Amino acid sequence: MNLIDMHCDTLWQLIDLKKQGNLMENDCSVSIPYMKKGGTLAQFFACFTYLEDYLTEGGKNVGKEDGYESCYAHVLQMIDYMEEQVRIFSGDIAFAFSGEDIMKNKSEGKISAFLTVEEGGILNQNLERLSVLYDKGIRLITLMWNYENCIGWPGSRDTKIMCRGLKSFGIEAVEEMNRLGIIVDVSHASDGTFRDIMRYAKGPVIASHSNCRALCSHPRNLSDEMIHRLAESGGAAGLNFYGNFLGTEKESCIEEMTAHILHMIQKGGIGFPVIGTDFDGFDGMEHMDIPDVSGMEMLWEALKKKGLGEAELEKIWNGNALRVITEVCG
Ligand SMILES: [Zn+2]
Repeated sequence: MNLIDMHCDTLWQLIDLKKQGNLMENDCSVSIPYMKKGGTLAQFFACFTYLEDYLTEGGKNVGKEDGYESCYAHVLQMIDYMEEQVRIFSGDIAFAFSGEDIMKNKSEGKISAFLTVEEGGILNQNLERLSVLYDKGIRLITLMWNYENCIGWPGSRDTKIMCRGLKSFGIEAVEEMNRLGIIVDVSHASDGTFRDIMRYAKGPVIASHSNCRALCSHPRNLSDEMIHRLAESGGAAGLNFYGNFLGTEKESCIEEMTAHILHMIQKGGIGFPVIGTDFDGFDGMEHMDIPDVSGMEMLWEALKKKGLGEAELEKIWNGNALRVITEVCG
Protein backbone atom coordinates (compact mmCIF):
# COMPACT_ATOMS: atom_id res chain seq x y z
CA MET A 1 0.00 0.00 0.00
CA ASN A 2 3.05 2.24 0.55
CA LEU A 3 1.67 4.96 2.80
CA ILE A 4 3.49 8.19 3.60
CA ASP A 5 1.82 9.79 6.62
CA MET A 6 3.11 13.33 7.00
CA HIS A 7 2.02 13.93 10.59
CA CYS A 8 1.63 12.03 13.86
CA ASP A 9 2.19 13.02 17.48
CA THR A 10 3.23 9.58 18.71
CA LEU A 11 6.53 10.85 20.15
CA TRP A 12 4.62 13.32 22.32
CA GLN A 13 2.44 10.48 23.63
CA LEU A 14 5.37 8.19 24.36
CA ILE A 15 7.58 10.83 25.99
CA ASP A 16 5.20 13.32 27.60
CA LEU A 17 1.73 11.88 28.10
CA LYS A 18 1.88 8.13 28.53
CA LYS A 19 5.54 8.07 29.53
CA GLN A 20 5.67 4.37 28.70
CA GLY A 21 5.98 2.05 25.74
CA ASN A 22 8.21 2.38 22.74
CA LEU A 23 7.96 2.32 18.95
CA MET A 24 7.48 -1.46 18.94
CA GLU A 25 5.02 -1.87 21.79
CA ASN A 26 2.68 0.89 22.87
CA ASP A 27 -1.00 1.72 23.12
CA CYS A 28 -0.75 4.53 20.56
CA SER A 29 -2.17 4.63 17.03
CA VAL A 30 1.29 4.32 15.49
CA SER A 31 3.72 1.48 16.23
CA ILE A 32 6.08 -0.64 14.12
CA PRO A 33 3.61 -3.58 13.98
CA TYR A 34 0.71 -1.26 13.04
CA MET A 35 2.81 0.48 10.39
CA LYS A 36 3.79 -2.88 8.89
CA LYS A 37 0.17 -3.97 8.77
CA GLY A 38 -0.96 -0.64 7.31
CA GLY A 39 1.71 -0.74 4.59
CA THR A 40 3.71 2.28 5.78
CA LEU A 41 6.51 3.41 3.52
CA ALA A 42 7.39 6.48 5.61
CA GLN A 43 6.04 8.03 8.79
CA PHE A 44 6.68 11.65 9.77
CA PHE A 45 7.18 11.91 13.54
CA ALA A 46 6.53 15.35 15.01
CA CYS A 47 8.59 16.65 17.88
CA PHE A 48 5.70 18.61 19.38
CA THR A 49 6.26 20.75 22.41
CA TYR A 50 3.56 22.38 24.47
CA LEU A 51 4.57 25.85 25.67
CA GLU A 52 2.12 25.82 28.63
CA ASP A 53 4.16 23.03 30.24
CA TYR A 54 7.24 25.24 30.33
CA LEU A 55 5.91 28.56 31.56
CA THR A 56 6.70 27.73 35.15
CA GLU A 57 10.01 26.65 36.55
CA GLY A 58 10.36 25.62 40.19
CA GLY A 59 6.90 27.03 40.90
CA LYS A 60 7.84 30.41 39.41
CA ASN A 61 6.30 31.86 36.28
CA VAL A 62 8.83 32.41 33.52
CA GLY A 63 8.39 34.48 30.38
CA LYS A 64 7.43 33.04 27.04
CA GLU A 65 11.01 33.36 25.79
CA ASP A 66 12.39 31.26 28.67
CA GLY A 67 9.53 28.85 28.07
CA TYR A 68 10.55 28.43 24.45
CA GLU A 69 14.16 27.82 25.52
CA SER A 70 12.93 24.85 27.57
CA CYS A 71 10.77 23.77 24.63
CA TYR A 72 13.86 23.79 22.41
CA ALA A 73 15.73 21.60 24.90
CA HIS A 74 12.71 19.32 24.97
CA VAL A 75 12.70 18.96 21.18
CA LEU A 76 16.39 18.00 21.28
CA GLN A 77 15.51 15.32 23.85
CA MET A 78 12.75 14.03 21.58
CA ILE A 79 15.25 13.74 18.72
CA ASP A 80 17.64 11.81 21.02
CA TYR A 81 14.80 9.50 22.03
CA MET A 82 13.93 8.81 18.41
CA GLU A 83 17.58 8.14 17.55
CA GLU A 84 17.70 5.59 20.34
CA GLN A 85 14.47 3.95 19.15
CA VAL A 86 15.72 3.70 15.58
CA ARG A 87 18.94 2.12 16.89
CA ILE A 88 17.05 -0.43 18.98
CA PHE A 89 14.65 -1.38 16.19
CA SER A 90 17.11 -0.97 13.32
CA GLY A 91 15.90 -4.17 11.66
CA ASP A 92 12.49 -2.59 11.05
CA ILE A 93 12.90 1.17 10.81
CA ALA A 94 15.53 3.67 9.62
CA PHE A 95 15.72 7.45 9.33
CA ALA A 96 15.12 9.07 5.98
CA PHE A 97 16.31 12.57 5.09
CA SER A 98 15.41 12.54 1.39
CA GLY A 99 13.25 10.81 -1.18
CA GLU A 100 16.18 8.63 -2.14
CA ASP A 101 16.55 7.45 1.48
CA ILE A 102 12.93 6.26 1.47
CA MET A 103 13.61 4.06 -1.54
CA LYS A 104 16.86 2.73 -0.08
CA ASN A 105 15.15 1.86 3.21
CA LYS A 106 12.32 0.19 1.32
CA SER A 107 14.74 -1.96 -0.65
CA GLU A 108 16.13 -3.10 2.72
CA GLY A 109 12.62 -3.91 3.96
CA LYS A 110 12.57 -0.99 6.42
CA ILE A 111 10.02 1.67 7.25
CA SER A 112 11.34 5.22 6.89
CA ALA A 113 11.09 7.70 9.77
CA PHE A 114 11.17 11.45 9.14
CA LEU A 115 11.70 13.92 11.98
CA THR A 116 9.70 17.14 12.12
CA VAL A 117 9.18 19.97 14.60
CA GLU A 118 5.68 21.20 15.47
CA GLU A 119 6.15 24.67 17.02
CA GLY A 120 8.50 27.09 15.29
CA GLY A 121 8.63 29.13 18.52
CA ILE A 122 11.56 26.95 19.63
CA LEU A 123 13.77 28.93 17.25
CA ASN A 124 13.35 31.84 19.66
CA GLN A 125 14.76 34.41 17.21
CA ASN A 126 17.81 32.24 16.63
CA LEU A 127 18.28 31.53 12.93
CA GLU A 128 21.33 29.28 13.44
CA ARG A 129 19.08 26.85 15.24
CA LEU A 130 17.65 25.87 11.86
CA SER A 131 21.07 24.54 10.78
CA VAL A 132 21.40 22.64 14.06
CA LEU A 133 17.96 21.09 13.59
CA TYR A 134 18.71 20.29 9.94
CA ASP A 135 21.95 18.54 10.94
CA LYS A 136 20.01 16.54 13.52
CA GLY A 137 17.72 15.33 10.73
CA ILE A 138 14.70 17.65 10.92
CA ARG A 139 13.22 17.93 7.42
CA LEU A 140 9.90 19.69 8.09
CA ILE A 141 8.83 22.42 10.50
CA THR A 142 5.25 23.30 11.34
CA LEU A 143 5.95 26.99 11.87
CA MET A 144 3.06 27.70 14.21
CA TRP A 145 1.12 25.87 16.85
CA ASN A 146 -1.73 27.51 18.72
CA TYR A 147 0.30 30.45 20.10
CA GLU A 148 1.78 33.58 18.69
CA ASN A 149 5.52 32.96 18.41
CA CYS A 150 8.67 34.61 17.00
CA ILE A 151 7.60 33.57 13.49
CA GLY A 152 4.01 34.79 13.32
CA TRP A 153 0.43 34.21 14.37
CA PRO A 154 -1.72 31.08 14.73
CA GLY A 155 -5.08 30.18 13.23
CA SER A 156 -7.86 31.62 15.39
CA ARG A 157 -11.56 32.44 15.44
CA ASP A 158 -10.51 35.96 16.52
CA THR A 159 -10.43 37.81 13.20
CA LYS A 160 -7.80 40.27 14.48
CA ILE A 161 -5.37 37.40 15.17
CA MET A 162 -6.39 35.60 11.98
CA CYS A 163 -5.33 38.63 9.89
CA ARG A 164 -1.88 39.00 11.44
CA GLY A 165 1.00 37.61 9.42
CA LEU A 166 4.69 36.71 9.48
CA LYS A 167 7.05 38.73 11.68
CA SER A 168 10.38 39.85 10.24
CA PHE A 169 12.13 36.90 11.90
CA GLY A 170 9.48 34.63 10.36
CA ILE A 171 10.38 35.87 6.89
CA GLU A 172 14.06 35.11 7.55
CA ALA A 173 13.17 31.68 8.94
CA VAL A 174 11.16 30.75 5.84
CA GLU A 175 14.00 31.85 3.57
CA GLU A 176 16.56 29.92 5.61
CA MET A 177 14.38 26.78 5.56
CA ASN A 178 14.19 27.07 1.76
CA ARG A 179 17.97 27.39 1.60
CA LEU A 180 18.62 24.39 3.86
CA GLY A 181 15.96 22.10 2.40
CA ILE A 182 13.42 21.95 5.25
CA ILE A 183 9.75 21.65 4.23
CA VAL A 184 7.66 24.67 5.26
CA ASP A 185 4.40 23.54 6.91
CA VAL A 186 1.52 26.04 7.25
CA SER A 187 -0.84 23.88 9.35
CA HIS A 188 -1.89 25.93 12.44
CA ALA A 189 -0.93 29.24 10.77
CA SER A 190 -3.29 32.22 10.70
CA ASP A 191 -4.66 33.29 7.33
CA GLY A 192 -2.29 36.30 7.44
CA THR A 193 0.72 34.11 8.24
CA PHE A 194 -0.31 31.76 5.43
CA ARG A 195 -0.57 34.66 2.97
CA ASP A 196 2.90 35.95 3.90
CA ILE A 197 4.51 32.50 3.79
CA MET A 198 3.20 32.03 0.25
CA ARG A 199 4.71 35.39 -0.64
CA TYR A 200 8.20 34.61 0.67
CA ALA A 201 8.55 30.84 0.26
CA LYS A 202 10.19 29.35 -2.80
CA GLY A 203 9.06 25.95 -4.06
CA PRO A 204 6.41 23.65 -2.58
CA VAL A 205 4.71 24.57 0.70
CA ILE A 206 2.51 22.07 2.52
CA ALA A 207 -0.23 21.94 5.14
CA SER A 208 0.78 18.64 6.72
CA HIS A 209 -2.44 18.02 8.67
CA SER A 210 -5.32 20.27 7.60
CA ASN A 211 -8.69 19.64 5.94
CA CYS A 212 -11.08 21.76 3.84
CA ARG A 213 -12.98 24.77 5.21
CA ALA A 214 -15.62 24.38 2.49
CA LEU A 215 -16.73 21.16 4.24
CA CYS A 216 -15.86 22.04 7.83
CA SER A 217 -15.52 25.69 8.71
CA HIS A 218 -12.66 25.61 11.22
CA PRO A 219 -9.64 27.96 11.39
CA ARG A 220 -7.37 24.88 11.24
CA ASN A 221 -8.74 23.99 7.81
CA LEU A 222 -7.91 25.42 4.37
CA SER A 223 -10.11 27.68 2.28
CA ASP A 224 -10.44 26.88 -1.42
CA GLU A 225 -8.20 29.85 -2.17
CA MET A 226 -5.52 28.45 0.16
CA ILE A 227 -5.76 25.03 -1.51
CA HIS A 228 -5.31 26.76 -4.84
CA ARG A 229 -2.23 28.68 -3.66
CA LEU A 230 -0.59 25.61 -2.09
CA ALA A 231 -1.25 23.52 -5.21
CA GLU A 232 0.21 26.28 -7.37
CA SER A 233 3.43 26.09 -5.31
CA GLY A 234 3.66 22.37 -6.07
CA GLY A 235 2.70 21.65 -2.46
CA ALA A 236 0.11 19.46 -0.78
CA ALA A 237 -2.25 19.08 2.16
CA GLY A 238 -2.50 16.06 4.46
CA LEU A 239 -5.90 14.66 5.36
CA ASN A 240 -6.37 15.02 9.13
CA PHE A 241 -8.42 12.31 10.91
CA TYR A 242 -9.59 14.50 13.80
CA GLY A 243 -13.40 14.60 13.84
CA ASN A 244 -13.48 18.30 14.74
CA PHE A 245 -11.61 19.09 11.52
CA LEU A 246 -13.62 16.59 9.47
CA GLY A 247 -16.89 18.10 10.67
CA THR A 248 -18.14 15.21 12.78
CA GLU A 249 -17.47 16.55 16.30
CA LYS A 250 -17.37 13.38 18.42
CA GLU A 251 -16.63 10.95 15.63
CA SER A 252 -13.99 10.37 13.02
CA CYS A 253 -15.69 8.79 10.02
CA ILE A 254 -14.48 7.45 6.67
CA GLU A 255 -17.37 9.07 4.79
CA GLU A 256 -16.15 12.57 5.75
CA MET A 257 -12.53 11.63 5.07
CA THR A 258 -13.37 10.66 1.50
CA ALA A 259 -15.37 13.88 1.05
CA HIS A 260 -12.38 16.03 2.12
CA ILE A 261 -10.03 14.13 -0.21
CA LEU A 262 -12.44 14.52 -3.13
CA HIS A 263 -12.77 18.24 -2.41
CA MET A 264 -8.97 18.62 -2.29
CA ILE A 265 -8.76 16.92 -5.69
CA GLN A 266 -11.50 19.12 -7.10
CA LYS A 267 -9.81 22.35 -5.97
CA GLY A 268 -6.12 21.42 -6.04
CA GLY A 269 -5.91 18.59 -8.58
CA ILE A 270 -4.93 14.94 -8.11
CA GLY A 271 -1.35 16.03 -7.30
CA PHE A 272 -2.55 17.82 -4.17
CA PRO A 273 -3.85 15.50 -1.41
CA VAL A 274 -1.57 13.54 0.89
CA ILE A 275 -2.21 11.84 4.23
CA GLY A 276 -1.43 13.62 7.51
CA THR A 277 -3.45 11.59 10.00
CA ASP A 278 -2.56 13.53 13.18
CA PHE A 279 -2.70 10.16 14.96
CA ASP A 280 -1.91 10.48 18.67
CA GLY A 281 -2.35 14.25 18.43
CA PHE A 282 -5.96 14.50 19.58
CA ASP A 283 -8.47 12.84 21.87
CA GLY A 284 -12.13 13.24 22.74
CA MET A 285 -13.30 11.09 19.84
CA GLU A 286 -15.97 8.62 20.93
CA HIS A 287 -15.63 6.71 17.72
CA MET A 288 -12.95 6.36 15.09
CA ASP A 289 -13.56 4.38 11.91
CA ILE A 290 -9.78 4.08 11.55
CA PRO A 291 -8.38 4.05 15.09
CA ASP A 292 -4.78 3.36 14.10
CA VAL A 293 -2.46 3.23 11.10
CA SER A 294 -2.96 -0.53 10.61
CA GLY A 295 -6.45 0.20 9.23
CA MET A 296 -5.46 2.49 6.37
CA GLU A 297 -6.67 0.00 3.77
CA MET A 298 -10.25 0.87 4.76
CA LEU A 299 -9.76 4.41 3.50
CA TRP A 300 -8.12 3.14 0.31
CA GLU A 301 -11.15 0.89 -0.36
CA ALA A 302 -13.63 3.66 0.46
CA LEU A 303 -11.93 6.02 -1.99
CA LYS A 304 -11.92 3.31 -4.62
CA LYS A 305 -15.68 2.99 -4.20
CA LYS A 306 -15.93 6.75 -4.79
CA GLY A 307 -14.35 6.18 -8.20
CA LEU A 308 -10.63 6.76 -7.69
CA GLY A 309 -8.32 4.46 -9.63
CA GLU A 310 -5.18 2.71 -8.35
CA ALA A 311 -2.84 5.27 -9.95
CA GLU A 312 -4.72 8.15 -8.30
CA LEU A 313 -4.70 6.41 -4.92
CA GLU A 314 -0.96 5.79 -5.22
CA LYS A 315 -0.47 9.54 -5.67
CA ILE A 316 -2.42 10.29 -2.49
CA TRP A 317 -0.71 7.51 -0.54
CA ASN A 318 2.86 8.30 -1.56
CA GLY A 319 3.45 9.92 -4.98
CA ASN A 320 2.46 13.46 -4.01
CA ALA A 321 4.42 13.39 -0.75
CA LEU A 322 7.46 11.91 -2.49
CA ARG A 323 7.35 14.68 -5.07
CA VAL A 324 7.41 17.37 -2.35
CA ILE A 325 10.09 15.60 -0.27
CA THR A 326 12.35 15.11 -3.29
CA GLU A 327 11.91 18.66 -4.50
CA VAL A 328 12.62 20.26 -1.12
CA CYS A 329 14.95 17.81 0.66
CA GLY A 330 16.54 16.06 -2.31
ZN1 LIG B 1 -1.01 19.88 14.95
